[in-house]
Amino acid sequence: MSDKVVTRFAPSPTGFLHIGGARTALFNWLYAKHSGGKMLLRIEDTDRERSTDAATAAILDGLSWLGLTWDGEPVSQFERAPRHRAVAEELVRLGKAYYCYATPAELEAMRESARAKGLPPRYDGRWRDRDPSEAPVGARGAIRIKAPADGETVVHDRVQGEVRFPNKDLDDFIILRSDGNPTYMHAVVVDDHDMGITHIIRGDDHLTNAARQMVIYRALGWEMPSMAHIPLIHGADGAKLSKRHGALGVEAYRAMGYLPEALLNYLARLGWSHGDDEVMSITDMIAWFDIGDVNKGAARFDFAKLEALNGVHMRRMNDAELLDIFINTLPYLEGGPAIAARLDDTRKAQLLAALPGLKERAKTLVELVDGAAFLFAERPLPIDEKAAALLGGEAREILRGAHAALKAISGDWTAAAAEAAIRQYALAGGLKLGAVAQPLRAALTGKSTSPGVFDVLAVLGREESLARVADQID
Ligand code: GLU
Repeated sequence: MSDKVVTRFAPSPTGFLHIGGARTALFNWLYAKHSGGKMLLRIEDTDRERSTDAATAAILDGLSWLGLTWDGEPVSQFERAPRHRAVAEELVRLGKAYYCYATPAELEAMRESARAKGLPPRYDGRWRDRDPSEAPVGARGAIRIKAPADGETVVHDRVQGEVRFPNKDLDDFIILRSDGNPTYMHAVVVDDHDMGITHIIRGDDHLTNAARQMVIYRALGWEMPSMAHIPLIHGADGAKLSKRHGALGVEAYRAMGYLPEALLNYLARLGWSHGDDEVMSITDMIAWFDIGDVNKGAARFDFAKLEALNGVHMRRMNDAELLDIFINTLPYLEGGPAIAARLDDTRKAQLLAALPGLKERAKTLVELVDGAAFLFAERPLPIDEKAAALLGGEAREILRGAHAALKAISGDWTAAAAEAAIRQYALAGGLKLGAVAQPLRAALTGKSTSPGVFDVLAVLGREESLARVADQID
């Protein structure tokens, strides 16, 4: 085996890529990138009742949106069932596993008697040492692995440390059902081995599985990959993550207007840290990530932190890049499709010009849609309540003068020229600059907040600006 790191993300396609799954994928991806290795993708679709193609597509879409790329083609676990079966049968030949013909009624009786004694339900090993010739005629048995009866199984976990499992708690569990289908426990081991996985990074809800999987590795004489069981994400109140806490599919985060980079930064910081660094680019995360630095304690999901971090990423992102992401995300954002439909080259250029001002006031792309709406609005503009309040009373008179001052600009229509004209007008009339700028902003955008009003004038251009102001005068 080469030394190259090979990780894998192994989602069960029974729903969307939820936020916890995205973090597991991220840690696998970061670790692979950090070590110059690979991350493979395995779709654990053995549960035919619950697995759907739509869920697989949603998971691939979610990973792609986040930029969590995998190497090679995704592997379908279900399609590998013949291989899982062959390995189980090989274990029988090696004397490490055996056919069990216990009937459902017998198994139920075993569970009953364990329950009566207050013990966990365990298989009693009744077929472990019986001769195969005793098999009932025509019956297809299940294959059970011979688990060690005493001592301990010790998992050396890079996050959880040394975790000990008394072997008396591990019974001879089934690896191949009597219908010929592998159990999940067995399929995972065979796949991880065949895919050359060197590092398993997954949720700590799989920690007890690690002990059972170790039994299978030992029986096969295969080397166990390095294990890292990462703590699950909890809500801000410490309770198990629910929908209200943010246990949503990643596409919900796309629709809420978060940038992939910001979401990844946030998820990486859930349970992992690098000094005091809060804001990290993807390059930083790859350079700094180490699985051994992940905390054992449960991580708490906090929407407010995610939002603040998203704002920071938006502000520090280059405008052309942010514009690209914004445009690509429009179809998923509330109010986005309407903007997308009207986005010609002129408007794209306006948007790019307005972006420095807009992104100062937005923490998400949804807020950016809202801020940019004035560029796309049709005259006469819809005026919101706060803006309407700024347009009442003397404002109309003030606007009339401002309109004349702007109209008189003879040179190029720039923010600086507009500012000079408005300042002069305010000074001449003994008005405060705000007394002119506020109604002007309301008339130009229909809102009480916007990027700097002179920038708005510049971005909208002479004709449209003058027309919008005129609309509010008469
Ligand atoms: N398919 C399992 C899950 O979605 C992951 C199993 C594993 O990583 O070993 O939880």
